[in-house]
Amino acid sequence: MALVNIHFLNLQANYLFADIAKKVNAFRVMHPKADVISLGIGDVTQPLCPAVVEAMHKAVDEMATADGFRGYGPEQGYDFLREAILKNDFAPRGVRLSLDEVFINDGAKSDTGNFQELLHWDNFIGVTDPIYPVYIDSNVMIGRCGTYRDGRWTNVRYMPTTAENGFVPELPKGRPVDVIYLCFPNNPTGTVITKQELRKWVNYALKNDALILFDAAYQAYIRDPEIPHSIYEIRGARKCAVEFRSFSKTAGFTGVRCGYTIVPKEVSVATFEGERIPLNQLWLRRQCTKFNGTSYISQRAAEAIYSPEGKQQVQATIDYYMENAARMLTVLKASGFEVYGGENAPYVWMRTPDGTTSWQFFEALLYGANVVCTPGVGFGPSGEGYVRFTAFGSHEQTEEALNRIAQWAGKK
Ligand SMILES: *Cc1c(COP(=O)(O)O)cnc(C)c1O
Repeated sequence: MALVNIHFLNLQANYLFADIAKKVNAFRVMHPKADVISLGIGDVTQPLCPAVVEAMHKAVDEMATADGFRGYGPEQGYDFLREAILKNDFAPRGVRLSLDEVFINDGAKSDTGNFQELLHWDNFIGVTDPIYPVYIDSNVMIGRCGTYRDGRWTNVRYMPTTAENGFVPELPKGRPVDVIYLCFPNNPTGTVITKQELRKWVNYALKNDALILFDAAYQAYIRDPEIPHSIYEIRGARKCAVEFRSFSKTAGFTGVRCGYTIVPKEVSVATFEGERIPLNQLWLRRQCTKFNGTSYISQRAAEAIYSPEGKQQVQATIDYYMENAARMLTVLKASGFEVYGGENAPYVWMRTPDGTTSWQFFEALLYGANVVCTPGVGFGPSGEGYVRFTAFGSHEQTEEALNRIAQWAGKK
C-alpha cells in the first residue's frame, strides 16, 4: 500500500494568493465594469534588459550549431557565471569566496525550500514574523513544525518584527533555536537589518551552534550604503550561514529562472556523536542527485547583468521600481496612513487604520478604491493589522492606484 506523507496534509489548505484571487474574482463578477489595479502579487512587470536579451539570443544561436550545442551542464553551474558572481557580488564588499562555494540554481525558492532536507527532522526552527511562507511550509512537509493552532505552528519560534520593535527582531530567549531563517531586505515588510543587528544574529548562531539561512533575494534594492548586502560582510558568518540569492527581483528573471546559493566550506552541522559534517559537500551530493542544473541560456542571461551595459540597465529598472516605492510612501503618508519599508526594498508595509484586520482592510480597499493589496496576516501572525503594497507595477498603474487610494481615504 502506498502511504501518503501525512505531513503534507498538515499544510494550510489555502495559499494566500489563491484566496486573494478568489476575492478579486468575486468582486469582478459583481462589478464587471470596474478596472481593478493590483499592487498585490510580488512579481516584476518590466521587460528583460537589452543586454540580457542579447545574451539569450546569442546562447540560443550557439545551441543551434554542432560546435556550440550544450547538453547537461555542471551541476553547480558554469564557471563563467560563478566567476562573475564572485567578482561582482562579493569581492567589492570584501567577501572572498571560492568557486565551489557557489551553487547556481533555478531560483531561490527551490533552494530555500530544499535546503532543510540536509537537517535532522527535529531541529527547532525560528523565523522572523511575518515572513516569506516557503521557509515554514517546506519544514512542515518534513514534519518539523508540530501542529497548526490559532495561526501558528507549535514547534516554530516566531520572532515578531512589528512597528512596536522598529522591525528589529529580538534574539530568541529560552529554548535555543537550531535553524534561523532571516530575509533582508524583508519580504513582506520591506525593512532592512543593520550590520550591528545582523552581527548579533551571527554571534547567537556561533554561540548556540545554530545555522542561519539568509535570504538576500532583494539585496539589489538596498540604497543605504551602511546596510549589508551579504551576511558574509559579518565576521564569523561563513562558519554559520548559508546565503540565498536570486536574479528574479534583481533583473526580472521570475520567468527566466536563475539564482544561486552560497554554502561556505566552513559551515558544518553536528551528528549526535559530535562529528562535524560540512554542509558544502552534503549540498553538492544532494544537488548532484536531485538537480541537473539551470539552462545554459538562463546562465548566459544571468552573466550578462554583470557587463557594464547590463549593470547599468538592471540598475535603471530597479530605480524605476524604487520611484514607485517613493511615490507610495509619499502619497500613503499624506493620506494619513502609517507606512514602513519602501526605502531599501520594493515593498511598502502599511498599518491598517483603526484596528481593522488585514482582510477587512483588503476588502474595503478593493471595494472602495478597486485596488488590490496583500493582507499582512498571510505572512504570519505578526502580519495581522498590516497590508503589503508592491512597487513592481508600472508608473502609470501605480500612480492611478495611489490617486484612488488618496481619494478614497479622503472620503472616509
Ligand atoms: C521572490 C523571492 C525569492 C525569489 O524566488 P525565485 O525562485 O528566485 O524566483 C526568494 N525569496 C523571497 C523572500 C522572495 O520574495
